[in-house]
Amino acid sequence: MINIVEKQIKHLRKETPLKEFDNNKPAEIEINKFFYEGKMIDRIMVVLRTNGCEHYKKTGGCSMCSHFNGTPKHKVTDKNYINQWNSVVNGECIEKDGCKFDLNDYPVLCLYNLGSLFNKNEISLPVIRYIFKSLNEFKNIKKVIVESRAEYVTEEAIKNIKEVYDGIVEVGIGVESTNTNIRELCHHKGIEDIKIIKNAVKTLHKYSFKALAYVNFKPVFLTEKEAVDDAIKTSVDSFKMGFDAVSVEPTSLQDYSLANYLYEMGQYRVPWLWSIERIVSGIYDKLKNKKLDIRIGGYFDEEVLSGSQGVGYEGKNEIFPTLTSSNCSLCTNRYIDGIKKFNATYDIKSLTEIEKCPHCYRIWLDTMKIKDSRSIEQRIKDIFSK
Ligand code: SF4
Ligand SMILES: [Zn+2]
Repeated sequence: MINIVEKQIKHLRKETPLKEFDNNKPAEIEINKFFYEGKMIDRIMVVLRTNGCEHYKKTGGCSMCSHFNGTPKHKVTDKNYINQWNSVVNGECIEKDGCKFDLNDYPVLCLYNLGSLFNKNEISLPVIRYIFKSLNEFKNIKKVIVESRAEYVTEEAIKNIKEVYDGIVEVGIGVESTNTNIRELCHHKGIEDIKIIKNAVKTLHKYSFKALAYVNFKPVFLTEKEAVDDAIKTSVDSFKMGFDAVSVEPTSLQDYSLANYLYEMGQYRVPWLWSIERIVSGIYDKLKNKKLDIRIGGYFDEEVLSGSQGVGYEGKNEIFPTLTSSNCSLCTNRYIDGIKKFNATYDIKSLTEIEKCPHCYRIWLDTMKIKDSRSIEQRIKDIFSK
């Protein structure tokens, strides 16, 4: 069955047009509000323009991801990476008018590369070393968050940073689901053995790096209720595996992803926002702990300082989603404000106290009752044999 999913994903990926970008300029820079050490702070997110995720290149990648849309036609060289980073350090890449930019103003830096920062085929060890060495000069940066697939979390990659940088580093790893069938068939993650993820956490902790689990909420082929239950279980399992924090990532749609394709076929709906509160309370209840570091990915008050094709959204930013998780048009924004508040305070009341919408709350309750007695394999067969 995995072959059917992979074939379909690869077919979609072939249609992804490789664009010309300025390889000397980061893909995006934004500031967002973030909860750190008990208070709300400004976090800076730098997305480097890179050569793209290797999993994507080899297998078509994960079903919900279209990061490849931001991969340039021409190879990003070490020199390009260094130029990109220097333009962040000296503020030259900032496009927003009147912005007095200083990297040292931000206690938390997210340094992303639309793939795995620890995969030396995507971004070389000397480049990573150069970047982290330069970060030592920014004493106000207390924590750097990067992302990597679990298999690239090696002692070599960690030592490469550790030898030149002594600040806190948190590594976000896509766990997506701890259910192998869901992770492989629904997410197409390509990590059949969960031990790879467990070992990555151990290796990070050995060097006092922090581990953040990304848990994708509602991949393709699942009902809303199955997706909620899986997100709760996966988050709980992730904390038990030793992850220091969990970021629940509701699926959003970007061009050329399998999720987007199935949405266009009428075979997929993005997750309901009402489900988010169920997930967070479910994790608290199962672990009998309300002091966990749980984030809801994608919902932070943000200010874009630089985008690949000019400051801005949508048409100007190839990685901006076309549709995010939603309720009805009357209450979606209110719920999103509640999530942003939760991310800035970690207070569950920001979600539980959202007024129940007279138009869609009951529809969501009914959606949660929908059952599908078919196996995931059968669902895949039914969809793709049409
Ligand atoms: S989610 Fe991560 S691993 Fe999967 S295709 Fe996207 S960048 Fe690659
Ligand atoms: Zn509503």
